Amino acid sequence: MKYISTRADKTERGFSEILLEGLAPDGGLYLPQHYPQVDAATLQRWRGLSYAELAFEVLSLYIDDIPADDLRDIVRRTYTEQVFGTPQITPLKPLEPGLWLQALSNGPTLAFKDMAMQLLGNLFEYELARRGEQLNILGATSGDTGSAAEYAMRGKQGVRVFMLSPNGRMSPFQQAQMFSLQDENIHNLAVEGVFDDCQDIVKAVSNDLEFKRRYKIGTVNSINWARLVAQVVYYFAGYFQATRSNDEVVSFAVPSGNFGNICAGHVARMMGLPIHRLVLATNENDVLDEFFRTGTYRVRQGAETYETSSPSMDISKASNFERFVFDLLGRDGERTRRLFKTEVEQHGSFQLAPHEFARVAEYGFVSGRSTHADRIATIRTTFEQHGVMIDTHTADGLKVARERRTPGEAMLVLETALPVKFAAAIREALGREPERPSALEGIEQLPKRYTVVPPKAQTVKDYIAAHC
Ligand SMILES: *Cc1c(COP(=O)(O)O)cnc(C)c1O
Repeated sequence: MKYISTRADKTERGFSEILLEGLAPDGGLYLPQHYPQVDAATLQRWRGLSYAELAFEVLSLYIDDIPADDLRDIVRRTYTEQVFGTPQITPLKPLEPGLWLQALSNGPTLAFKDMAMQLLGNLFEYELARRGEQLNILGATSGDTGSAAEYAMRGKQGVRVFMLSPNGRMSPFQQAQMFSLQDENIHNLAVEGVFDDCQDIVKAVSNDLEFKRRYKIGTVNSINWARLVAQVVYYFAGYFQATRSNDEVVSFAVPSGNFGNICAGHVARMMGLPIHRLVLATNENDVLDEFFRTGTYRVRQGAETYETSSPSMDISKASNFERFVFDLLGRDGERTRRLFKTEVEQHGSFQLAPHEFARVAEYGFVSGRSTHADRIATIRTTFEQHGVMIDTHTADGLKVARERRTPGEAMLVLETALPVKFAAAIREALGREPERPSALEGIEQLPKRYTVVPPKAQTVKDYIAAHC
């Protein structure tokens, strides 16, 4: 399988070439040249597989430059009961007939980003060893991504992580999750500033090309194709658990921010998995809901980007969205570049032509949005009616799922985090503390390992240079 950019650069690259990269050189995102088709006989064969075996089957359709035995070994080491807490890895929790939660948040950091990041850690270690190279991952986080990256890369050969976070602004639980790591290759830098300061520093360091090359600076952001393809697997796993035969169709409802999770659902559907609809749920940051209602994609300004109680979906633009638009436009790279480069850079928005927008329904997409009051009400009713405690992001998904679901439609709502990560909302909704996995009791009392730094790119550069 070869990979191409969404912006008309026709250069073909192998999986191992794009694994350690972010954007394509022309500024686009990588996609496979075509989506491998999964026929009825293959679906039937996959139905009985364990999660790790299923992951191997899906990934090997997209990765042909890692020997099969090595890939199988990587996947088996990644998706274990020990790491994900259950033998099914992503078990279903029934709410009522035809409506389930699919648990994607039983990994080490209790959010769905572990599903892909744990694989990425093992792939990075393998590829760097093969090349005899090292990589220094630099990132900024306000919570989920940074901790998922650290837990994926801890103790890995050839990789160091330098993670910036706003000092004192993460929840005590999230801070404890990250800062309690004692691995020598993990560096937590608490920046005296806000999240934007952290991001500005990452940009400034990355723009210093000489420094970037010399210290082999890389990222693990959500546009990485390997992360996306890892997420395709759980759509298959959810489908097999919810159905008895491959004649059945199911829909998925997905809490969305950067369009990474649901883009994997789009890929699964393009491969032939019988997905009826993909229900996209946003919070008050409704860039994507607006697009799926109107055909207009409008990037928000800082002042229009709200801090909500489902913070991992607080986005001003959706960094993976270009992949879907490329497919929607019949893979017209010139048109995709005009929309995302020229129009978005000049006007902050684009509008599809009516005949282009009309095709959205063929791809199964519908959308909705949710507010803080909706989240609180959904958390409360779900606990009262089903005895199930959900987090705020999953609540956004469930709220929109209930709104959009038609009678008899089988629907899986992706559970993207556990409630313990967002305790304040649980207290507000239920008047009690969230449930906590026993392994994480008392995590706030563990010794912490981090360094406070002023909001200056030079200080961060000096720190990196001193620790390489
Ligand atoms: C990252 C995240 C999301 C949003 O996922 P995207 O791939 O950005 O759409 C939703 N919920 C939680 C808990 C997350 O961490």
